[in-house]
Amino acid sequence: MSLGEFDLIQRFFAAQGRERPDVLLGVGDDAALLRPPVGMDLAVTQDTLVESVHFLAGTDPARLGHKSLAVNLSDLAAMGADPAWFTLALTLPGSDPDWLRRFSAGLGQLAVAEGVRLVGGDTTRGPLAISITALGWVPAGQALRRDGARIGDQIAVTGTLGDAGLALTCLLGGVAPPDDQLERLERPWPRIAAGQALRGLASAAIDISDGLAADLGHILERSSLGASVRLAALPCSPPVAVRVGSSGDWSLPLASGDDYELCFTLPPGHLAEAKSRLAGLACPLTVIGEIEATPGLRLLEPDGRAYRPTRAGYNHFAAHD
Ligand code: ADP
Ligand code: MG
Repeated sequence: MSLGEFDLIQRFFAAQGRERPDVLLGVGDDAALLRPPVGMDLAVTQDTLVESVHFLAGTDPARLGHKSLAVNLSDLAAMGADPAWFTLALTLPGSDPDWLRRFSAGLGQLAVAEGVRLVGGDTTRGPLAISITALGWVPAGQALRRDGARIGDQIAVTGTLGDAGLALTCLLGGVAPPDDQLERLERPWPRIAAGQALRGLASAAIDISDGLAADLGHILERSSLGASVRLAALPCSPPVAVRVGSSGDWSLPLASGDDYELCFTLPPGHLAEAKSRLAGLACPLTVIGEIEATPGLRLLEPDGRAYRPTRAGYNHFAAHD
């Protein structure tokens, strides 16, 4: 069975997510009408997932629905924004109702959980691709940007690093990944509450989508500064720690993508308050290094020597240059 475009939209995308009074008009008209609160800056972000580029063909549609929205909400989290609305541009090879039902269920569950509403989109035919634009707000002037780091700031991350990368390595090698790591790869949970809690404390922030080294690198570039990171401080789950320990290769926590944790910088006087706010959210915070005047990212082995990436690790870095 295949569905027409209008039936498809009506059936799967007309009422997704949490109903909100600030949506004056949602799916169904020529444009949505939204009413942001007075005194807030609007934060807008867009991310596209293309089959065989950003996810493997045959990925569970419910997980794909979740992840497509999660990666966008993660960008809003990294700005310290409160997510409100999103639009969905879907390119589909066909209109398979079973695939659409599962995709929209995964998407809708996260949307309800995070209180966001699907307010419009576009549906076209072609190779499978999902593009979401997410909108949220932040009190005027308080967004967490990439360009605010200062010399002497502590560098911290939420959660653990390298879990999604470990799952992907397993899948590509034909081995079943550990459950927790597969969950991190396919159903990441954006750090929305943590991002908001860091408003007024963090001097800069970014979400880790391309790997810590690359994403911290963006903060350093935009802030025109450098940093030292202590490898032994990187927060790793047990399976990632075992890999790193047995190979001496830190590329999983340093250079593998898709973790969707936050990396942020804190003036030393804000560290205690940030720890206490994130502890209140049961969100782990780990200090991994410090912002310095000398440009570049210095990675320090436990004995204080400079880390020399292995060949595999080095290639990871090159891919993100
Ligand atoms: P138009 O031709 O005026 O652009 P469309 O036929 O593309 O209108 O869309 C009709 C309505 O359905 C619009 O409100 C649009 O935002 C919404 N819509 C289309 N595709 C999607 C989708 N994949 N998810 C959510 N809303 C959608
Ligand atoms: Mg249209």
